[in-house]
Amino acid sequence: MRPPVENAQSPASAGSGLHAELRFLKGVGPRRAAELERAGLRTSDDLLHRFPLRYEDRSRLVRSSALRRGEAAAVRGQVVSTGLRHTRRRGFSLFEMLVRDDAGTFRAVWMNRPYLKSAFSPGQTVLLYGTPEWRDPGGLRLSNPQYELLGDEEGDGSGRETGRGLHSARVVPVYERIGTLTTKQLRGLVHRALDRLPTELDDPLPAALRARRRLPDRRQALREAHFPSPGASLALLNRFRSPAQVRLILEELFLFRLGLEARGRSRTRERKPHAVRVDDRVRRSALAVLPFRLTPGQRKALRAVVDDLRRPCPMNRLLQGDVGCGKTIVAVLAALVALENGLQVAFMAPTEILAEQHFLTLRPLLARSRFRVVSLTGGQGAKARRDTLAALEKGEAHLAVGTHALVQPSVAFRQLGLVIIDEQHRFGVRQRAALREKGRRPDVLVMTATPIPRSLALTAYGDLDVAVIRDRPPGRTPVDTRIEPESRRAAVHALVERQLRLGRQAYVVYPLVDESDKVDLKAAAVMVDTLARRFPGHVVDLLHGRMKSDDRETVMARFAAGDVGVLVATTVIEVGVDVPAASVMVVENAERFGLAQLHQLRGRVGRGPGRAWCRLLYQEPLSDAGRARLEAVAGTTDGFALAEHDLRLRGPGEVLGTRQAGLPTLRLANLVRDQDLMEVARDEAARAVQEGVADDVLARLDAGWLERFGLAGVG
Ligand code: ADP
Ligand code: MG
Repeated sequence: MRPPVENAQSPASAGSGLHAELRFLKGVGPRRAAELERAGLRTSDDLLHRFPLRYEDRSRLVRSSALRRGEAAAVRGQVVSTGLRHTRRRGFSLFEMLVRDDAGTFRAVWMNRPYLKSAFSPGQTVLLYGTPEWRDPGGLRLSNPQYELLGDEEGDGSGRETGRGLHSARVVPVYERIGTLTTKQLRGLVHRALDRLPTELDDPLPAALRARRRLPDRRQALREAHFPSPGASLALLNRFRSPAQVRLILEELFLFRLGLEARGRSRTRERKPHAVRVDDRVRRSALAVLPFRLTPGQRKALRAVVDDLRRPCPMNRLLQGDVGCGKTIVAVLAALVALENGLQVAFMAPTEILAEQHFLTLRPLLARSRFRVVSLTGGQGAKARRDTLAALEKGEAHLAVGTHALVQPSVAFRQLGLVIIDEQHRFGVRQRAALREKGRRPDVLVMTATPIPRSLALTAYGDLDVAVIRDRPPGRTPVDTRIEPESRRAAVHALVERQLRLGRQAYVVYPLVDESDKVDLKAAAVMVDTLARRFPGHVVDLLHGRMKSDDRETVMARFAAGDVGVLVATTVIEVGVDVPAASVMVVENAERFGLAQLHQLRGRVGRGPGRAWCRLLYQEPLSDAGRARLEAVAGTTDGFALAEHDLRLRGPGEVLGTRQAGLPTLRLANLVRDQDLMEVARDEAARAVQEGVADDVLARLDAGWLERFGLAGVG
């Protein structure tokens, strides 16, 4: 029963069409409305933009004489009689119904559904769907079939004219339950919501785009995506590639991309207050710090970055590349260009270890230049910190390397012109923005730790220009990776020993559930002793996140200098650590690490010429998922391939690591499944901008749509 409008809290909010509220839908009482709302569904629009999980073909509508044992089919007929039997077994009942169609009669039975007795009465037209079975005596019958009364309230009367139901005699949608709402109830609701749509729905897609891609109109697409017409391809539907589904997914991705384009355009209209020039002096200065020849990939990436720097609008670029491909030097050269132009540079890394290491790399590189490099981390003494802050504010320090300590309010720059963010995925959108705020429209360069899948790059970092380094520095051979049970530890240690004798170094990594867990740290400390006895004549040392930053720096410096042979470490070394002489990476309890983490850890070795090994030791029993992960890592050293794999295994949110990483809320599109459509959407959005129809599309959208994609506010 539809509540009379005057009962509504606000008559206007009842809305119509897509904005109609679900609580005013027939069959939705306050309890169901609350359940729907909890699932984020308030309006018809919400409900209809929630695809079925899958589709089932129940379209085989046959006459009763054509029912065959074992072949699922739908039959339509009139109820002749019904009866409820209680059997000898206590609490067990059988509801039986005799149905007639023009070919004869047949029986349908339901176990333990006594309430059906009051649902059916002779004379009704019913639609039944099930798989007939043979009973002796009794013959062919349908057991526990799906049922539907044609023309009844709950079934919505859709079948009155067509004789096709909602729940059978068609391809039916199967929905994920919402609270107590079953798929069958949801089918009814969706159908009623569709029925309330006006005949004309405003279409946000430009007509030319619709024609070009042969997309159905919006109203029809919504209907077909939920209740496909006879003849629709089940295979396409279940791959979410029917024309209706494609249209709706594309619409969502197109609008998302258009939002990004719009934001990007408002940015390119911004002018940065500084100008960057690249002349011979700047080139000489950059060349002077360069310790090696850049690879073609690095050169191309650098060119893109420098071109950005020279533009009048701020750079917003993502630098992608596999572990060890040499992103740092590209960033350093970009920094030099900025420095030579009188600008300050902030270089932010996600961990203190990494920030310290960048500091240790950058300082000697720039030692002969006139630029002063300072470091800002959390573990610094008060005095040192005060001096550093003062130097930055006065412009006496030029390049600040640090952790998120850089974004604290006390940090101010005189003229921050370039912001570099390493291992971007560890930072939230807000930290990115906060660092940007330290300057006046500075150029921004972000780098990822490992490659991220293309579809994620197009969404989470969708408004950044992307540069990708595909090659590696010369002389690198793929790291020889194997997974081994713990029982093989002795053999692995023998490998470590051989390398130590050759003057190479090794990492042994332990997963610590919690860096503050004393028990875990103790275990790592015990391991140091054990390994020290195993490798006499070599120094074994420990590195973990709870150490004081001075101590950590000392250990890292000793390892980098080759004074420490084996470094027992927690995942603090996961990202970025760069000691080219290290040739063996042993990961203990490798099954506890994620795929990207393992690839990162492996990336700590093989960073110089010469062979390198990675041994992933696991504890038995190994779960299937754990084995799949380890085998994926052992199977390839291609970080781009692993990233795609990881996306399929874990999904986008997990791959990016944080909710704050900037993923939009997509209702229909799926970043794993719809990569192809994401590309189409990107091209179409760019085209819409070019052809000047973008503003028109945006102007007709609701105010809330940007927020839905997470596009309002910071970026
Ligand atoms: P990542 O991309 O993982 O951050 P790094 O920038 O740390 O990689 O570089 C990995 C190692 O490769 C470093 O030791 C670096 O000095 C070295 N390297 C980078 N580029 C080159 C190059 N063109 N030739 C030789 N070695 C290089
Ligand atoms: Mg790096």
